[in-house]
Amino acid sequence: MSKIARRKFIQLSAVAVAGALASPGRRAYAQDMPKLAEDDTMAAAMKYTHDASTVDPATRANPAEVQNCANCALIQGNDGDEWRPCQIFPGKLVAAAGWCSVWAPKV
Ligand code: SF4
Repeated sequence: MSKIARRKFIQLSAVAVAGALASPGRRAYAQDMPKLAEDDTMAAAMKYTHDASTVDPATRANPAEVQNCANCALIQGNDGDEWRPCQIFPGKLVAAAGWCSVWAPKV
């Protein structure tokens, strides 16, 4: 496992555990969820932004060209919705046009 892959795995594991502890056994509906704030502690740690076009591609660990929440493997909810749930930020909605450093390609 490369250093970047290992770091990403550790980040994902930590966030998944935090999410499970924050909402055990609770399944929130998207329409009830608040939007993730860019200055949220976890969002800031993951460099989340509502606008992926503001991210310099040279600063991303993953070289894939077009990256935004709508084409990330971790997005949930309905295609076409402007705000959608994300596995990394349980209980919050992320912008479909957004991005964070955990972005992963859909397979
Ligand atoms: Fe967006 Fe993917 Fe990051 Fe979730 S994990 S905020 S969908 S880029």
